Order: sequence, then structure tokens, then C-alpha cells
Amino acid sequence: MGMAKISFDNTETAFAYKTNKELKKAKFLFSTMSYPFFVPLSTRITPLLIKGRLPFITNIVRNTIFKQFVGAETLEEIEPVCEKLGQYGVKVILDYGVEALHGNINFDHATVEFIRVINFAASQKNIPFICVKITGIARFELLNALDEAPRLRSGIHDNEAETHEWEKVKDRLYAICAAAADKNIGVLIDAEESWIQDPIDRLAMEMMAEFNKNRVIVYNTIQLYRKDRLEFLKLSHKIAQQQNFLLGVKIVRGAYMEKERSRAANNKYPCPIQKSKENTDTDFDAAVVYCIDNINTISTFIASHNEESILKAYDILEERNIPLNHQHIQFAQLYGMRDNVTFNLAKAGCNVSKYLPFGPIKDVIPYLMRRAQENSSISQQTNRELTLIKRELNRRKS
Ligand SMILES: Cc1cc2nc3c(=O)[nH]c(=O)nc-3n(C[C@H](O)[C@H](O)[C@H](O)COP(=O)(O)OP(=O)(O)OC[C@H]3O[C@@H](n4cnc5c(N)ncnc54)[C@H](O)[C@@H]3O)c2cc1C
Repeated sequence: MGMAKISFDNTETAFAYKTNKELKKAKFLFSTMSYPFFVPLSTRITPLLIKGRLPFITNIVRNTIFKQFVGAETLEEIEPVCEKLGQYGVKVILDYGVEALHGNINFDHATVEFIRVINFAASQKNIPFICVKITGIARFELLNALDEAPRLRSGIHDNEAETHEWEKVKDRLYAICAAAADKNIGVLIDAEESWIQDPIDRLAMEMMAEFNKNRVIVYNTIQLYRKDRLEFLKLSHKIAQQQNFLLGVKIVRGAYMEKERSRAANNKYPCPIQKSKENTDTDFDAAVVYCIDNINTISTFIASHNEESILKAYDILEERNIPLNHQHIQFAQLYGMRDNVTFNLAKAGCNVSKYLPFGPIKDVIPYLMRRAQENSSISQQTNRELTLIKRELNRRKS
């Protein structure tokens, strides 16, 4: 049974969910972000202006970049966005934006919020997943300390306060995963900076051992821009096999490259990031192949905007006669980006989701600033995005 060749150039499918007015707004936003000085300047100024609580500024942000990349400020407001995506066969990974909050009270509060998000997701037809950043429920410095001290890896730790704090982090994540398992909602654990990743990985493996026995609830994230992560993927799989649980992984390239490089240079240790983009691409595609090779025991999210990598994955599924909607293969893109990939994959019958963040503007500013940087002129992303939007506007005119 041959499947139709997929094309990511179909802009009619890509933007069917957007009105002309919404598309024009998107065009304006992506054009603005492509001015060389706009993004570097605005990513510095905007957080300060938002802190200054100027309603005028908050409104501009809300109607432009926030509308494009974030679903809404509250759970209630996000419902229609999820429904709209659902109409086109696109599922939602709900991303509750709690970056940069600190203190045990905030972490406990975030845990309660995550569970509220899970219950909401379970009440909706179209939200099978949520994602969690461990730094939203744990202190960054604690994670860093645990990452650095090799003794801690064996579970022996002579810092009582830190041990206690770490136990509380585990309890929080356990509570989140247990609530999710109860409602059959998947939990994607995001990968972060390499110098805090080790405790995150261990936590993720522990949760998988607990909750992934017969079906996959918990997913860890593998960043293939790191030299050691293809091996780590295979090791994770080996451990899962030995301990009899299913491995859940989200395959990404990685989002903190600049930070990783400058910290390694400043602190004079070998940089964990691949020497070149090609090496990252090679390992990313190899990771996808490894996961598909082991499709019975690994459930995979291919989380990427890279059309070549996605086409390769698609072709492998086709070659091997694996149904496009096999529940162990999911694709995912970020909300507001690469609709041409998402909606065309959905139309072809693949499992595909959008990472959909929501939260008060002040809490999602770091997320928005990352999106702006990613979409500024240096990265080429804007060009492709703009070209497609313009093409669709022209198509609708004629
Ligand atoms: C649904 C979803 C979830 C995500 N979750 C996470 C997460 O949990 N953690 C996380 O860190 N990121 C996450 N990301 C972001 C992701 O890691 C990438 O930053 C982003 O998707 C861009 O990579 P790409 O595969 O889409 O494509 P591309 O545009 O082809 O790749 C760009 C990426 O390649 C790598 N790269 C670029 N230049 C070089 C170079 N010179 N040398 C080596 N490598 C290079 C970098 O990782 C860069 O981000 C997520 C992305 C998506 C879509």
C-alpha cells in the first residue's frame, strides 16, 4: 500500500485555520521580527516594560507576539484554541508557563496548577498530553548541585537539607505523573541546560519505571545537539528493557546552544554540544531511526521544525509499512510556528501535536523572548515562515 508523498508547501492546508485578518497580523509580526535590530533590542526592553506594568505595552504584546505563540492567559480562554486545532486533526500538548518562579511555596503551587491542568486536559477531547519543566517545580541551584556531585548519583548524600529538598521535588513530580496516569494524560518532561540535566534524567527514568509499565505516560527529552545523547538514548532503552518498562522519548535538537557554548568557554570545560549543525542533524536522524527500529518498546515524539528530518521519518514509516497513525510515533511543533508542517502532517493522517503554552503574560515573557530570538533574521526561520504566509495571502486574493 503506497502512501501519498507529503508536501509541506501546501499553504491552503497550512493556514486553513487562520482568517485573512489573522494571517495579515502574522505577516506583520514575522516581518517586524526580521528587522536586524528589532529582536535584540526588544528582547532586552520588553521584560522591563512588562515589569513596569504599563497597560499600553502589555496590550501591544498581547495583540502581537503573545497571540501568535501563546494560546491564552487562562485555561478557560484556551478551550476554543484547542477546539480549533482539533477540527484539523491537530492535538495539543498543553504547556503551563511557569518559568522563573522560585521558592518551595511557588513550587507546591505549580504542582497544584499542573494537576489542575491535567484535570482540564482530561475533560477535553483534544488534549492528550501536557509538558513539564522540572525547573518549574525545583530550584535551579539544587539541580545544579545534584548534577555536579557524583556521590549524589549513588543516592548517598551528606547534605541533609538538599536531600530533603530533593525528596520534595520527587514527591511533586510523582503527584503530577500519578494524576496524569489516573486520567490517561501523557507527561512530557522537557530537557534543559546540560549542567542540570542529570538529575532531570534520573527523575524521568524513575517515573517511567513507575508509570510506563503497560502504556506510556511519561516521556523524557533527548537533545541531539549534545555529543553524548545518541548513546544516552540507547542506554535509556537498555535500562527500560532490563527493568521491564516502556521508554517514552521526545527527540529534539536542543534549545540552549549559545548558553552551553559560552558557559563551557568561560569555565574551560569541553563543550557538550556537537561540533557542527551537520553532526546534530546526523544524530537527530539516527535517533529517529533507532526509535522506529524499536517501535514496540519506545514511544517517540519527533519534536522538530526541520522539514528534511520529518520527511525522512515519514519515508521510513512508509517504507516499513508502519501505519502513519501508529500510537508510538508522534510529531510535534510549537504553536505559531511551522503550520505548514503540522497541518500537512495531520492531513496525511499522522499523529501530530502543537506545544501550546498558556499563562499570564508576565510569566510567559521568557518563552516569548526565546521565540522572538529563534525567529529573528539570523536564523532563516522567519524567511520561510514569511514566504509561506505571503504565498497564502496571494493565493486567497486570486
Ligand atoms: C514540540 C517541541 C518541543 C521542544 N522541547 C524542547 C525541550 O524540551 N528542550 C529543548 O532544549 N528544546 C526543545 N525544543 C526546541 C528544539 O530543541 C530546537 O531548538 C528547535 O526545535 C529547533 O530545531 P529543529 O529541529 O526544529 O530544526 P533546525 O532549525 O534544523 O535546527 C536548529 C537547531 O540545530 C542545532 N544547531 C544549530 N546550529 C548548530 C551548530 N552550529 N552546531 C550544532 N548544533 C547546531 C540547535 O539545536 C538548533 O536549535 C522543542 C521543540 C519542539 C518543536
